[in-house]
Formats: sequence, structure tokens, C-alpha cells
Amino acid sequence: MSYEGDMLKKLAMPTKQDVEKVLLKTLFKHNGIIKEFSSGEEIVEEIADLFLLNEEQRKVVLERIYKKENRIVKTPLWHRLLYRAADSLAKEKLVTRPTTTIQLTNRKEWMLTENGYDKALRLLDIPFERKEVLPVKSFEVQKLIKRMTEMSAPENYDPIDNKKVIKTTSKEASIRSRGFRQIVLESYDCKCCICGLKIKSPDSLYWEVEAAHIVPHTRNGKDDVWNGLALCRLHHWAFDVGWFSITDDFKIIVSDFSKNIPDDYGKIGSYDFFKDGLVENKPVFLPANSYISPHKKAIQWHRENIFYR
Ligand SMILES: [Zn+2]
Repeated sequence: MSYEGDMLKKLAMPTKQDVEKVLLKTLFKHNGIIKEFSSGEEIVEEIADLFLLNEEQRKVVLERIYKKENRIVKTPLWHRLLYRAADSLAKEKLVTRPTTTIQLTNRKEWMLTENGYDKALRLLDIPFERKEVLPVKSFEVQKLIKRMTEMSAPENYDPIDNKKVIKTTSKEASIRSRGFRQIVLESYDCKCCICGLKIKSPDSLYWEVEAAHIVPHTRNGKDDVWNGLALCRLHHWAFDVGWFSITDDFKIIVSDFSKNIPDDYGKIGSYDFFKDGLVENKPVFLPANSYISPHKKAIQWHRENIFYR
């Protein structure tokens, strides 16, 4: 047995396979991204805590002698084990290496791939359908988002995707719809653009706000940021059924039908959905980058096809 193998055994360190599994689960918990081990001390400690490693196991240093160069390289054994496990995951294409991820995020991080994400779901016994609403990032989805944010708003934009009927594979469709969801939620800071509500689940996995299509999915609306709005569930519903729409200068317009509804409709205690929740002419909260604001062609379509005047 090698000197390193000897030390791993003597100190009863976890096996590489066990570290690989825990790494995938930790990546999932950290929304798909963790720092490179040399710079992310807290991650190194967090994973060590999961294995209940003692002080010696965390601190012991491996000395390797490079005879040719006549130098000794010292590396903490635990760091090396983590790196070797992550390296195996990268070889299996379950994560991307910091040298690859940096080209996408400008940071040296390990990131889940789509396959790694699926494996983490299996390990955690989470149904695959949840993937659509979880905030976990994958390299493929981030690549798509980067492409979208680098494009400028098209002049002649058509919010309807006529080719959408000829469906791509479900994997591609899933990457596209998650890319849409993430770019919309991030651009709007996870707030409803009408009421400003921002809230997530106690376990931090689910945001209340939804990425709404302006031209709906059912009408072949595109999965891009110019056809998207971040809306809380109540405003999403009201937008989809045509209770309100948005003007070309991004102000709220409310359907005249709201003047003719029974007195007890739209009330939550003293809160009146039509007076307090939908204020005529109130500006909509928009992303900081104006080039990812909704496209006029999309909101025009909504006013003409969904909104009840
Ligand atoms: Zn809202």
C-alpha cells in the first residue's frame, strides 16, 4: 500500500466513494456550486463536519518528496481526499472542474452538470419533477443563461416560437425552461414585479415568486427573458386570466370588469386586491438591466389577446 493509502487507513478516513456521494449532496445543498477547496475553507470544514472528522483527521499533512526537484510538498490529507473525489466526479462528467467553470462564472468553483444534478436527486430521493422548480444550478443551464444575457434585445422580436411544436428532446426543453425560470427570477431579484412580494420556503429551496410567460407556454410563448415577468402566485393568476396588463411604458392597467364584481370578491380582511393589489398606472418593478425588460411586442400581444378591457 502507498504511503498515502497507509495514512488514509491508519486515520480511518472516509472512502473516496463516500466522499463523492457527500460532495454531490453538498453541491445540491449549495445550489449546484461550491468553491474550489483551496479557497473555500468553510466548505472543507462543512464536509468534514458531515463525516464527524476529528482534529487529527482534518489537520494531518501528507508530505510528498519530489526527488528530482529536491523539494517536499505538504498537503492536508483531507484536502487531497476531497480533491481526488471531486476529480473522479469530473472524470464521470458529474461536475465541471474549477478550470472549466471559471470560463462561465469568472470564479473558481466546482459546478454540477445535468447528469450530476440527476445523480444528486437520486441520492437524496427527490423526485425528478422537482427539478423544474428547485433553485439548483447546472453547468448547462448556466451556459444558456450566459448566452441569453449576452444578447441584446432584438428589434424585430416575435414572442411566439413557431418551431416550438416540433419539440426538441425533453432534456433540452427542461434546460430551456429552467434557464428561463432562473434568468427571470434573478433579474427581478426574486420579487413580484407588481406587489414586490419576496419570500422563500424555510428550507430556502423554493421561492414563492414564479417566472411567468407573457405570451403563455400554451400559445407557444418563447422561453426567453423578453417574454418573462416575475410574479407572485396571485398576480400570476390575475395576469394569465386578463385582470390586468402592462402598458408600453411599463405601467399597470386594470380591466374595467373590476368595477362590476360582487362586494365580497377580492378581499383579504381590509386588503382589497383591486384597489391595493392592482393600482392603475403604478410603474412595474423592472430588472436593473433595461435590456432584459419585457419586450413591447410581448406585452402588446398580452393586451390584445389576454387582457379584458
Ligand atoms: Zn404580487
